[in-house]
Amino acid sequence: MNILIVYAHPDPQSLNSALKDYAVQHLQAAGHAVQVSDLYAMRWKPTLEAGETAGPDVLREQEKLLWADTVIFQFPLWWFSMPAIMKGWVERVYTYGFGYGVGEHSDQRWGNRYGEGTLAGKRAMLMVTAGGWEPHYSLRGINGPMEDVLFPIQHGMLYYPGMEVLPPFLIYRTSRMDEGRFDQVSEALGQRLDTLESTAPIPFRRQNHGDYDIPALTLKEHILPGRSGLEIHVQSAA
Ligand code: FAD
Repeated sequence: MNILIVYAHPDPQSLNSALKDYAVQHLQAAGHAVQVSDLYAMRWKPTLEAGETAGPDVLREQEKLLWADTVIFQFPLWWFSMPAIMKGWVERVYTYGFGYGVGEHSDQRWGNRYGEGTLAGKRAMLMVTAGGWEPHYSLRGINGPMEDVLFPIQHGMLYYPGMEVLPPFLIYRTSRMDEGRFDQVSEALGQRLDTLESTAPIPFRRQNHGDYDIPALTLKEHILPGRSGLEIHVQSAA
């Protein structure tokens, strides 16, 4: 497989850097071709300017996305989201006609997005480290469930342009890392990387396949009646 890792951490001595190096070596040893967009090392320009058109830096990243079968976004959770430099990568690389504004609108379909689009057929996975404890991000945890915290990224940035989204690889309570735990985490990461092709994606509902009223794009009333919230957009929600 061709695998692109989009990576954001400023410190080459960080935990994230060590995990990124482990992932690259592990994937290459398994015979995959790997490219890394190391956004800080590349000095990626994160701000989208008025009237900006895709320059060489943006086109290079789009080519990498088109080359990839699987895209891994790796970052530390900063203020409940990705670091600003990675958000700026998405804002600038997902240009009109590439990341959004793809496909025609009609009574049956609202463009090619949410499961369809330029990146359809590819897989994506988040690899996220968090300082908070796992229960802080549980269903009743004060930070909100991690799947809700990550929804704008997984549903809004990965699924929107067409990619299937694999369950994230998460590391909590990073201040409690030592060599023993690093070895355990690396082993678990290796297992996830070995199953990138076979892991079932999160069953987000497809936009143009009958679950939503168009053009309101609300979930049809007979599906999960009376329910709301982010979870209704996942098919397994009971
Ligand atoms: P590092 O700080 O580099 O390392 C973490 C630990 O791992 C250290 O103890 C280090 O010694 C050890 N370590 C590093 N490399 C290795 C190695 N190779 N082997 C063994 N041990 C190693 N957390 C949240 O939960 N929610 C938030 O919203 C949030 N917002 C934040 C906002 C900002 C601006 C910042 C700076 C942090 C925030 N955090 C938050 C915490 C953040 O998620 C963690 O600090 C981050 O995930 C840790 O990853 P790191 O790569 O920076 O780790």
